[in-house]
Amino acid sequence: MRVKPFLNKFVSSIYPSYCWNCLKVFVNDSIFCDSCWDLINTVPSLKLGVAGEIGLNIFSAVENSEPLKKLLKRKNFGDVVASKHLARILLKYVDTENLDVDYLVPIPLHWIRYSKRGFNQAEVIAEHLGKILNIPVINLLTRVKRTKFQASLSLEKRQKNLKSAFSLNGKVLEKFNYDFCGKRLLLVDDLCVTGVTLQSAAKELIKLSPKDLRAVAVCRGTYKKFTFDTTI
Ligand SMILES: [Zn+2]
Repeated sequence: MRVKPFLNKFVSSIYPSYCWNCLKVFVNDSIFCDSCWDLINTVPSLKLGVAGEIGLNIFSAVENSEPLKKLLKRKNFGDVVASKHLARILLKYVDTENLDVDYLVPIPLHWIRYSKRGFNQAEVIAEHLGKILNIPVINLLTRVKRTKFQASLSLEKRQKNLKSAFSLNGKVLEKFNYDFCGKRLLLVDDLCVTGVTLQSAAKELIKLSPKDLRAVAVCRGTYKKFTFDTTI
């Protein structure tokens, strides 16, 4: 008898898992029960403008609706495990086999929000992805402006809110001898609604003249009358 599967089964029978959406108990390490997995809808990738001719391809895994909303909101309760589950969902739904990137760059939190929450969900997702895909995570950006929560803002106010919100991380650039010209960067975030956050971050990163700059967000939300211009 193989010991590890036996032990896993034994441990699961003592500490059963539960569905993160409906709380149904089951004996495996799945995130949701079968019925709740069926509620998940995938979304197409899209391309947003950044500056001039430069565009940003954004890969998203799933629609921001239940049961994903529940996982996303767990960050407000300091739940790092939920953030790791978001990374697992990303790996399940986005073709990460042929990403061809040199660095994963998480969208940073402002230090005040970081200290309140204790962690950055985008960074946890990036770290988990990096571990599985063997791609280093690098904090190339810092959040220099304490932005308001986006959810209650109009598109125009979101753009204003995020204007100059990010800056290149001088300490990290120095550590790497500013050697990012020609590198392939992938921005990582948990949620993309209007894409304004990713656009704003990308505007900073293109100053490094990367060879390729793309973004991935686990969930794609919808915002009133807003529709994205281009689908890849
Ligand atoms: Zn369920």
